[in-house]
Amino acid sequence: MAEQKIPYKIYLEENEMPKAWYNVRSDMKKKPAPLLNPGTGKPMTAEELEHVFCKELVEQELNNDDRYIEIPTEIRDFYKMYRPSPLVRAYCLEKKLGTPAKIYYKFEGNNTSGSHKLNSAIAQAYYAKKQGLKGVTTETGAGQWGTALSMACAYLGLDCKVFMVKCSYEQKPFRREVMRTYGASVTPSPSMETEIGKKILAEYPGTNGSLGCAISEAVETATKLDGYRYVLGSVLNQVVLHQSVIGLETKTALEKYGIKPDVIIGCAGGGSNLGGLISPFMGEKLRGEADYHFIAVEPASCPSLTRGKYAYDFCDTGEVCPLLKMYTLGSQFIPSPSHAGGLRYHGMSSILSELYDEGLMEARSVTQTDVFKAAEYFARVEGILPAPESSHAIKVAIDEAIKCRETGEEKTIVFGLTGTGYFDMVAYGQYNDNKMSDTIPTDEDIAASLAKLPKVNG
Ligand SMILES: *Cc1c(COP(=O)(O)O)cnc(C)c1O
Repeated sequence: MAEQKIPYKIYLEENEMPKAWYNVRSDMKKKPAPLLNPGTGKPMTAEELEHVFCKELVEQELNNDDRYIEIPTEIRDFYKMYRPSPLVRAYCLEKKLGTPAKIYYKFEGNNTSGSHKLNSAIAQAYYAKKQGLKGVTTETGAGQWGTALSMACAYLGLDCKVFMVKCSYEQKPFRREVMRTYGASVTPSPSMETEIGKKILAEYPGTNGSLGCAISEAVETATKLDGYRYVLGSVLNQVVLHQSVIGLETKTALEKYGIKPDVIIGCAGGGSNLGGLISPFMGEKLRGEADYHFIAVEPASCPSLTRGKYAYDFCDTGEVCPLLKMYTLGSQFIPSPSHAGGLRYHGMSSILSELYDEGLMEARSVTQTDVFKAAEYFARVEGILPAPESSHAIKVAIDEAIKCRETGEEKTIVFGLTGTGYFDMVAYGQYNDNKMSDTIPTDEDIAASLAKLPKVNG
């Protein structure tokens, strides 16, 4: 068969959008460890989880068996506003690097929220609405998740209460206003509105906050208010499931042109975009049908996979959430506020943690200044101004392409470009002014935080 001409940008027609999410847990021989009740140390039952999360989302969270879970029509209709997202061949980048490698990126920044988070936000808001709830509460770090959720809630007519990590609330006033424009209420965290916020402020006065702390406040608020549930934008199994649309579309697009990737790269905060991007490919690897080299890229300032411990830990600083077995730096770990990206979470998705522990995936950590160097390079060469988080993946994609230049290997590299960086101009400004520094935790910092892991670990 004659080789098909591969377009620069691959947009799939609507009928090539997935009708079901792919659940990678179904193909894992060893399943991710169950969520534990912090009080009893026993696995959380669906009933217990339903106090915090929406019913259907709890089912998805606990579903280790079904390979595909149908995407409701209403969610698919919403996806059609901005999906399928383009898969772009980075010709200019390849040329500039002088590499024989072929580089593709799946671009998730082409919606107003500016990131992949909308894929799960609409799903979670949909199930909340279906359950007849009044609203949802959540936390947001860099602001992308809060923005995505406020968009989804506005679309469905749900109330949305966002606790925004204080340093971002102050650093990113425009993000905050986008959320308010979509009707969300935004509170800087830690706040005096919750018991846990008051406690954290008493213990760490003047703290810049952390995602873990904002999560505690959002959970407390959801459980106190009638008709509210808490929703989380990353880490959980359900979020990785929803984000599988990224990987499914990528796979369909590549298959359409007979392209087989060798290396698949994604940035990893809580693990949702990476988990979603690699899921269908990992499924093939788990079933022994194909092999791929997966690379998770995390910040050196918050290195949960590369320097953390695989253990049960709290998802939040306030220790109100269920325990999750994951690679963690300890729920008391508060990453340096000088770090600009939204990858400041102490733990990693249980699914990815298990896959990493089994040696099915590699992880690398990169420093912030190297990440911004790669971001600037990419912006100038490929045009898109990337989010700092996404630029972690860019950095390693460039490293891999340079390796190919040295070895002459014509590898196909695919990476997830999770979002745009328009709201990150304070961080870009620091970089441009040469005022950006790299704060890397010491072994002692990490050990001190890990010493506070919950007792269930024996
Ligand atoms: C939130 C975010 C991430 C990291 O979250 P994951 O759950 O690890 O995917 C990466 N990139 C962007 C643009 C984000 O908004």
